[in-house]
Amino acid sequence: MGMIGENTFAGARLDRVTERRRDAAWVAAQRADPASRAVVAADGQVLAEDDELALVALSALGASAGEPLLLGVEDGRALFAVDAEGLDPAALAPARLVGVRDIASQLSQSDGGLLAYAIALLNWHRRHRFCSVCGQPSEVAEAGLLRVCPHCGAEHHPRTDPVVIMLVTDGDRVLLGRQPSWPAGRYSALAGFVEPGESLEHAVAREVLEESGVEVSDPRYVSSQPWPFPSSLMLGFTARYAGGEPAARDNELEDARWFSRAELEAAATGEGPLLLPPRLAIARRLIDGWLEGE
Ligand SMILES: [Zn+2]
Repeated sequence: MGMIGENTFAGARLDRVTERRRDAAWVAAQRADPASRAVVAADGQVLAEDDELALVALSALGASAGEPLLLGVEDGRALFAVDAEGLDPAALAPARLVGVRDIASQLSQSDGGLLAYAIALLNWHRRHRFCSVCGQPSEVAEAGLLRVCPHCGAEHHPRTDPVVIMLVTDGDRVLLGRQPSWPAGRYSALAGFVEPGESLEHAVAREVLEESGVEVSDPRYVSSQPWPFPSSLMLGFTARYAGGEPAARDNELEDARWFSRAELEAAATGEGPLLLPPRLAIARRLIDGWLEGE
């Protein structure tokens, strides 16, 4: 991304120990090690203290930690993710649960990545307790990066949902849309889930056409961002305007229109009626990158 820097939620630098996590004795030793730490999280919330992730000693959580999921090893110690569901938050004071979006922009690049990894993995396990092939309860395997069905033997890998998000440009103007639930004045890049049997490039063109009636060409990949709400991967693109007049066409957007470079520059400095997406969102990075001529 050049001068714009890495996206929030990207950049976890821990070793995911792909091989060692299959060694049950090694995993058990990490669970028993007093040096092992845990990220404690609920749906959309994470345990934090003084604007930092609270890395709690796994041994201090005891049996109420349920089945800790091994994230990996960093600086010689194992890091786990633990679901806050079974824990008493008061016992963890002064650390407390805070909103993931609220704390994300204050974390270091690697802690933001660690947070996204823990949240997305916990979300997946919470939502995939049963085998999608036969419907029986499945079990955690490989210390958390797999679920296996003891009934039919099916293996289920943690799922990540690809979402394309694209800044459509036409010379000195860009196409943005707004959802009715957003704060007044907020506009952002168009986005949508990639569908089965679809390339990213086709998803970009289809989503823009469906949401705004605009045709595009020349989709170019820019960068990606883990987005653990609950388990997406945002794939950032630019695309060139190729025809059509923008208008909100589906039920997702209430407006889609062109904005000039001057309007975006004013918004970037907090002036004018246009409200840009928050800095932690890849949409903002795409807009900032375009403004800086990347
Ligand atoms: Zn099964």
